[in-house]
Amino acid sequence: MAKSRTTTPMMQQYRALKEQAGDAVLLFRMGDFYELFAEDAERVAPILDLVLTTRDKDTTNPVPMCGMPFHAVEGYIRKLLAAGHSVAIGEQTEDPKQAKGLVRREIVEVVTPGLVASNERLDGSGANYLAAVLCEEGRYGLAYLDVSTGEFCATETERREVFEAELDRVSAREIVARSSEKSLVTRAPVRATSSLDFDPESVAKRVGRLPEGLDEDATDVAARAAAALWSTVASLQPAALDQLTGLRFYTAADTLLLDASTRRHLELFQNLQDGGKRGTVFELLDRTRTPMGRRRLANWIGEPLIQLSRIRERQERIRSWMEPDSRRQALSEALRGVGDLERRLTRVGLPGTSPRDVAALRESLSGVGRVHEVEALSNPLTEICAELERVLVDEPPNPPRGEPYIGYIRDGVDDQVDQIRSEGEEGNAYFADLELRERERTGIQTLRVKYNRVFGYSIEVGKAKADLVPEEYRRKQTTANAERFTTDELERWEGVVLRGRERAAAAESRVLQQTRGFVGERVELARGVAREIADLDVVHSLAQVARERDYVCPEVDDSLRIEVEGARHPVVETFVRDGFIANDLIMDADPNDTEAGRSIILTGPNMAGKSTLLRQVGLLVLLAQMGAFVPARRARIGLADRIFTRVGASDSLATGESTFMVEMRETATILKEGSARSLVLLDEIGRGTSTFDGLSIAWAVAEYLHDSPGLRCRVIFATHYHELADLARTKSGVRNFHFSCVERDGEILFLRHMESGAASRSYGIEVARYAGLPPQVIRRAREILANLEGGEFDESGTPRLARGPGERPPAQLGLFSTGTPESDAVREALRALDPERMTPIEAIVELQRLKQLIEEKG
Ligand code: ADP
Ligand code: MG
Repeated sequence: MAKSRTTTPMMQQYRALKEQAGDAVLLFRMGDFYELFAEDAERVAPILDLVLTTRDKDTTNPVPMCGMPFHAVEGYIRKLLAAGHSVAIGEQTEDPKQAKGLVRREIVEVVTPGLVASNERLDGSGANYLAAVLCEEGRYGLAYLDVSTGEFCATETERREVFEAELDRVSAREIVARSSEKSLVTRAPVRATSSLDFDPESVAKRVGRLPEGLDEDATDVAARAAAALWSTVASLQPAALDQLTGLRFYTAADTLLLDASTRRHLELFQNLQDGGKRGTVFELLDRTRTPMGRRRLANWIGEPLIQLSRIRERQERIRSWMEPDSRRQALSEALRGVGDLERRLTRVGLPGTSPRDVAALRESLSGVGRVHEVEALSNPLTEICAELERVLVDEPPNPPRGEPYIGYIRDGVDDQVDQIRSEGEEGNAYFADLELRERERTGIQTLRVKYNRVFGYSIEVGKAKADLVPEEYRRKQTTANAERFTTDELERWEGVVLRGRERAAAAESRVLQQTRGFVGERVELARGVAREIADLDVVHSLAQVARERDYVCPEVDDSLRIEVEGARHPVVETFVRDGFIANDLIMDADPNDTEAGRSIILTGPNMAGKSTLLRQVGLLVLLAQMGAFVPARRARIGLADRIFTRVGASDSLATGESTFMVEMRETATILKEGSARSLVLLDEIGRGTSTFDGLSIAWAVAEYLHDSPGLRCRVIFATHYHELADLARTKSGVRNFHFSCVERDGEILFLRHMESGAASRSYGIEVARYAGLPPQVIRRAREILANLEGGEFDESGTPRLARGPGERPPAQLGLFSTGTPESDAVREALRALDPERMTPIEAIVELQRLKQLIEEKG
């Protein structure tokens, strides 16, 4: 057959809609299916696991296609969103039966990954943000919103790193940006837009209004980013605008800043192994009972506080739920009944709300009542709850897709609904016992009365008995094994019932709209209560964990000190089977404090526990500033303004993303941005390059952190470069600690107990010996070590020249090697010392003596 036809009219219609849909995947409704064509079909068939076929095979324009049944569409939409696609839904907007020629089709909705209002399309209970970014004249603006909860926030800063940390924290699913700002966004899909969208005045003109809190003449970048979001929602999902109650402007500087790298290394939300939740701080602390609480917990972890008063307020709240256990358990039970009040409120505010959505909201509201009972407070939402209770039946029916909702308004609520119902009773009665009557009349026991959406009512008789039906039966439809009939009488009653049903549906829906209006007028109040419940859920969750895991309330103050006794790593302690070894630590960045160091150099062999301790300190500070309790016997935490955590390249090779370059860039950031109040945790910095390079860098970084005015912050440096321990000899704020191990019954036993002083230089070789390397290898390794050390660095970080064993270092190198008699004396005195066995006090006494040596002679 000749390929004669070109593009069909339907494909022309498709093309026109596709043009409108732009990048969005177009779902094109055809009867009971949504079809995808051409590039869309090819692009998403693999994602959705659909089979590609071809349409219009016989034409000069065959088109690839795939499709899905309309009732299964939500699952597919969810998958497309999760894969970062937007979806345009093209519906048939006229009744195919009435259509002359091609059925009219229109795009009725565009769903994008960042703009998802309905629960069934959302992937899990976490927040789902759409963000907008803007940078102008050195100021960075960021706004984000979640239409499913109504949350809408905006902030701005002149510090790029703060902006980046916020952007990472929010981790929006999609970001609105002008092409000039695209480069600011790395991880999320970008929705390109024009400058006009970032102008509140022109957005106000176009949309007709702005959210509360946003002024038409605002010019700051935060407000303008918010305007762009408002404009985007207006064009894609105008109905959702009403859900965005109250835009909140905030300052990122009011929270403890955690950059992307720190968030990752402290494994707050994703573990380093596979990016999953297992072993994360979030998983540990999450005993929340509601999705709102879960989202709020993520906020608390992601944005720890820096104001003492707010921290103490949270501590008090947690303390109030610690005991008795029975009261907390009662709260836990009650919270469980609240469900996702936030999203249910939104759902009820949007068009297409079903009676079941409203019933779900009612359930949440009565859950709130039970929570307030436990709290012994009165419930401000009783009124809404009572109204829903009055109007809606206990269990609204759930008709198959496409059927009208009916029978969900209680009797006696609305006169018209009652009237229609009583009128419908006769018809319902006719159909109710039609089957029995006809069986009796015809003697066909297998006769059945059927109803379906397309064909309406019919009397079904199996093929074998079809000849026995009375003569007034008219054949209506033939199926595989049966014939379906109708009669004049049946058709008359069918008309009555179906019309009645339509009227009932309309009347009930009118009542439902009124009820939604009632809720809408009180939505602000309800959202306020939802926010309180979210906080309460987090408080309850933290109290639960604190109680189970034996945490204490840390003393938080504005000193620069950290003092912990019997501290544990909150996550590792849950994994270590044979008991986690608790550790003590004191550090203080106060320049007047000469006892506690501010830089801690932590040495010890592999697997000794260095990284664990480092992160443990970071997490304790983070928990404390969240207002949470901490895993320790006692803790005192001076507020930090930032926590920096950097891990040397090869230590995180598993993630495949850390290269030496990244490590160095991150280190540069710390040196640039840290302040005296920062907490810096450096793990094996410099490891990603050759030993000498790495050691030199690590040394210089440690010195800079210690010396640089304006920095001089609390630092823990975990390193296998034991040479770094020498820093303590010249830098007053440096203290050495180490982890050690012993051999027992031929096994290496890690003590996990942190002790003061540096690890022995040949620890690695010792471990190799325990591990059973042949004695001659160990001997040779010691020899080589001695050679290498001869050529390394002296106490001041100055390289020694390579020299043979036994040779003295050249006199012109090294801090004390000036060749004068007093320096010789000092050198001799130094040589006699064994710093690794000295207590800090002994060292200070010794230092005093050395100083005297010079002063006496000088
Ligand atoms: P390092 O950084 O020194 O190589 P890690 O901190 O990675 O060592 O610790 C290695 C393992 O030792 C951890 O995964 C953990 O299982 C265990 N560990 C660490 N610290 C402790 C401790 N204080 N008590 C018990 N086990 C610990
Ligand atoms: Mg380590």
